[in-house]
Order: sequence, then structure tokens, then C-alpha cells
Amino acid sequence: MRVSPDLENLVLQAQLTTLPVVGAESRFPARRIYCVGRNYVEHIREMKEADERDPPFFFQKPTDSVVPDGGVVPYPPLTKELHHEVELVVAVGRGGRNIPPGTALDHVFGYAIGLDMTRRDLQREAKKRGLPWEIGKAFDHSAPCGAIHTVASTGHFAEGAITLEVNGSIKQKGDLREMIWNVPEILSNLSSQYELRPGDLILTGTPSGVGPVVPGDRLEGKIDRLGSLHITIGPPEA
Ligand code: MN
Repeated sequence: MRVSPDLENLVLQAQLTTLPVVGAESRFPARRIYCVGRNYVEHIREMKEADERDPPFFFQKPTDSVVPDGGVVPYPPLTKELHHEVELVVAVGRGGRNIPPGTALDHVFGYAIGLDMTRRDLQREAKKRGLPWEIGKAFDHSAPCGAIHTVASTGHFAEGAITLEVNGSIKQKGDLREMIWNVPEILSNLSSQYELRPGDLILTGTPSGVGPVVPGDRLEGKIDRLGSLHITIGPPEA
């Protein structure tokens, strides 16, 4: 029975967010996007906040805020301070609750390079007023993410250089071994808060050197063994 032509159109237009998987024809269906709030000591120091031993905390971005490698992030509205944060992304392949750190890596499907784009001025204002972070973190096009490399092809990532260049000059430079909470600890802690499911993506925090970008800037994130992620900042959307 035809309920409504409008409903049929909506169904036809519904988009599942997926990411390419290196070496595979099938794409990875993204479910939720979780981000670790602070996970590198030098970044906590540059932000001048928080205790370095605070437990990890998480926020989310909308799944449809993903921008693929080679894509454009239109300069978002309401901000004068759009910042880059390059991060290792963990792609969950097997779900679970209360996962112990010792077996957490068994739940990983693969890894990618991501950018936690941030409207820093709005985030700062939200923090100051005790308001949620969404306006600073969870806006449209705020989650550029590269292709996923499977664990079978690259192994796991306890260490390795992570960098972000803007127009060819290095702005962020760190090593994954500087993470305060490593990948097994992040998965374990997060799975105590939410049931993890296949398709979940977890951005694991950014090293120091975050800073502003403007329309026309070319961003290149790099992580050893994951290649690079290229994103361009575009003009504001009309
Ligand atoms: Mn971040």
C-alpha cells in the first residue's frame, strides 16, 4: 500500500554513511562517531585546562558529518576560529559491553586518519557557560575521515608519528605513544558507558599544535602506516 509519495521519496533519499576500506570492494558502514576529549598531555597544557590524570571523557559527532578523503569542509557558520585536530580513528568491528582492556583489540576492525574539526570560540564559550559541546564539535562536515586500513593489513597502533600540515607546513606533530589513554583503555572505558556496535568510529584525541584554518587552506593529516588524509577548507555554504 502506498502510504505517501513523500515517504517514498524520503526513503529513496536516505543516505547511509560509509567509508572505503583499503583493499576491499565493500565499504565500512559508519554507525556512531565517538571522540575522546583530551588524550595528549601537551594538548591539555596548550589548552590550559584539566588535570592530566583525569579519566577519559567522550563526546559524539553526527554520523553524517563525515567528509571523505579529498573532500571539502565548507567554512562553518557562527565561528571565527575553526581549528584542526588530527587524530587516530579506531573502527569497531565487533561490539560489546564492559570490554576488558586485555581483549579490547579483538574488537577493532581497522584504523584511519581523522580530523576533529572544532569551532574553538564556540566550544570555549560553551565550556565557560557550562553548556554542552555540540555547537563547538558536532557541526556539519566536522568529521573528515580517511579510508580504513584493516588490522589484517596494518596491525595495531601503539606508537607512530602523527602529523598535520596546513599548506605544506607542519602544525601538529606527535606520536601515538604519547596518548594518555591507549586504544585498549579507550575501548574498555567507552564500552562501560555505551554498548559498542560494529561500525562505531572512535577519534582518539589530538596532539598539541591545534590552530585555525581559513577558506582555501589545504590540510594533510598523516599517521605512520596509514598514509595521508587530504582535506580542503571551502568557502561558507550559501
Ligand atoms: Mn579532538
